[in-house]
Amino acid sequence: MNAVVELDRVSKAYPGGVTALRDVSLTIGYGELVGIVGPSGSGKSTMLHLIGTLDRPSAGTVRIDGHDVATLSDRRLSALRARRLGFVFQQFHLAPGQSAVDNVADGLLYAGLPVGERARLAEDALVRVGLGMRLDHRPHQLSGGERQRVAIARAVAGAPPLLLADEPTGNLDSVSGAGVMALLRDLHRTGTTVLVITHDREIAAGLPRQVHLRDGEVVR
Ligand code: ADP
Ligand code: MG
Repeated sequence: MNAVVELDRVSKAYPGGVTALRDVSLTIGYGELVGIVGPSGSGKSTMLHLIGTLDRPSAGTVRIDGHDVATLSDRRLSALRARRLGFVFQQFHLAPGQSAVDNVADGLLYAGLPVGERARLAEDALVRVGLGMRLDHRPHQLSGGERQRVAIARAVAGAPPLLLADEPTGNLDSVSGAGVMALLRDLHRTGTTVLVITHDREIAAGLPRQVHLRDGEVVR
């Protein structure tokens, strides 16, 4: 039985001498909801970038969905990212002039699906995040919480087994933030593995598993 994420003695040093992760080993099984918790600068985003195959480790092994990332060509890596991973960031990264449904459908561009199928999956995903009434709204016509829901819909439209969220509530008021967390829980309940980064202790406390980082090391 493969784990969805396996970090084996992973370190990451950035040029200029910052060691952002130090000898981190971590296994996340399919179906888990895990919080990566720690103060600013502790290496949370670095860890997410390595798990998301957006960056490569300086040492150690990163295995995602059973694949050792180091052995994959850039092309296979892009395919892995497009088909197996969903990303949500603090900044919503939506295209300003485009409707919600187009923003979500564009997230499926590299999944190799015909345009009609992309639109259908995009609508389904928006309904799933509670925005079935906002399909044609553009980002400036949506609240912050709704924009983040569009970003989440984009991340899950292709039904990736692993959803990675980096401070998804960081730009939201507490009510919208709670709504986004409730949505991530729903997705987890219906089978998505969710890895959510937060520096908010209250949010972290509500998660079934927490990995605490400090100065680039897992401390708990
Ligand atoms: P967090 O997400 O927990 O706030 P990061 O992973 O972003 O932490 O950063 C961990 C450490 O690595 C910090 O000291 C940060 O300044 C440094 N760092 C992050 N990204 C880079 C980069 N691209 N180049 C150099 N240093 C970086
Ligand atoms: Mg960060």
